[in-house]
Amino acid sequence: MATEKLTESENMPHSEVHYFNSYNHHGIHEEMLKDEVRTKSYRDSIYNNRHLFKDKVVLDVGCGTSILSMFAVKAGAKHVIGVDMSTIIVKAKEIVEANGMSDKITLLQGKMEEVQLPFPEVDIIISEWMGYFLLYESMLDTVLWARDRYLRKDGKGLIFPDKATIFLAGIEDGEYKDEKIGFWDNVYGFDYTPLKLTALTEPLVDTVDLKAVVTDPCAVITLDLYTCTTADLAFSLPFNLPIRRTDYIHALVAWFDIEFSACHKPVRFSTGPHTKYTHWKQTVFYLADVLTVEVGESVQGKLSCRPNGQNRRDLDIAIDYKSDTQDRGRIAEGHCEYKMC
Ligand code: SAH
Repeated sequence: MATEKLTESENMPHSEVHYFNSYNHHGIHEEMLKDEVRTKSYRDSIYNNRHLFKDKVVLDVGCGTSILSMFAVKAGAKHVIGVDMSTIIVKAKEIVEANGMSDKITLLQGKMEEVQLPFPEVDIIISEWMGYFLLYESMLDTVLWARDRYLRKDGKGLIFPDKATIFLAGIEDGEYKDEKIGFWDNVYGFDYTPLKLTALTEPLVDTVDLKAVVTDPCAVITLDLYTCTTADLAFSLPFNLPIRRTDYIHALVAWFDIEFSACHKPVRFSTGPHTKYTHWKQTVFYLADVLTVEVGESVQGKLSCRPNGQNRRDLDIAIDYKSDTQDRGRIAEGHCEYKMC
C-alpha cells in the first residue's frame, strides 16, 4: 500500500519534505526497531531507571512508531508527548491504542519546532536522533531546540541519551579501495578519472572488519547534550592516531559511542568495528594517498565538519592528515574533502 506523502510548502522546503518522507514508510522503522543494540540500550536505560521516570512528564522527540514513548510509560511516566512530522505517527497512534496507552501518550504530528505541547515544560527528553557518522541528518539541532524550549529550567531535567562521542581510526583497505576508486582508471578501456574524484569525496557507510584497523582509535569530539549548542556541531578538531602495526593506511574509519549517563548504572553502546553490528555501521573516508606507516609512528590531523550551506542536513567534512615519518620516500601529508548527502 502506498504511504501518504508530505508535500512542499512555504515552511517545508523540498529537502525537508524529502527528509520527513523518508520516515513515512514502515521499512525504515523496522530496521531501527530490529537494531537490538540501539533499541535495547534505550529500553534498558529507561526500564532500569524507573526511579527517574516515575510520575514524570516525558517528551519523545521524533517518536516514530512510539517505541520510546511506550518504554517510558512502562517505566512509570505520568505522561508522554511524542512528536513526529512524518506520517508514521498515524500508525504510532494505532500502536499506542493497541497497547492500551492512549490516555498516557499524546502524539502530535508536526515539526518539533512548530507544534504546541500540552505542557509548558517537561522533566525528561528522550530521543533517538543519531544519523550516520552521528551528525548526518542534523536531527540533533531539533533535540537541542526542544531542550532549550521545554526542558525544566531548574537543572533537574534529564536527557536520554546525553553523551555522544565520535571516534576515528586508520584502516588498511587496499583491495577495496582499488576496486572502488581504481575502477574509474579504466572503464572498458576509457579514462573515467573525473568520476574517481567524486567517488573519493563520498564517505562510504559500511561495516569495517576489526582486523583492518591499523591504529589506536582517537576520540575526536564528545557532545554533552546538556550544554552543547548548534554552533558546536560545526567543528575543526585535532586527532592523533598511534600506529599499532606496520602496514598501509588507505582510509580513516569513523564511528560513535552513545551514553545515557543519568542512569543509576550508565548505559552505553558503541557503533565501532570492535563491537556488535548496528544499522549505523561505520563511515569510511578514503584518503587520496596511501600512507606507509610503522609501529611507533602516528598519524596526526584535523577533522572538520559542518552542515552544508545549501542543505543543512548534508555534511561538509574535511580531513587533514600528516604522518610523522622521517622517510622522505613516503607520502606523509594531505587534505581531503568529503560531502555526505
Ligand atoms: N524514536 C523512534 C524513531 C527514531 S527516527 C525510534 O526510536 O524508533 C527519528 C524520527 O524523528 C523520524 O521518524 C523523523 O520523522 C523524526 N523527526 C526528525 N526531525 C524532526 C522534527 N524536527 N520534528 C518532528 N519529527 C522529527
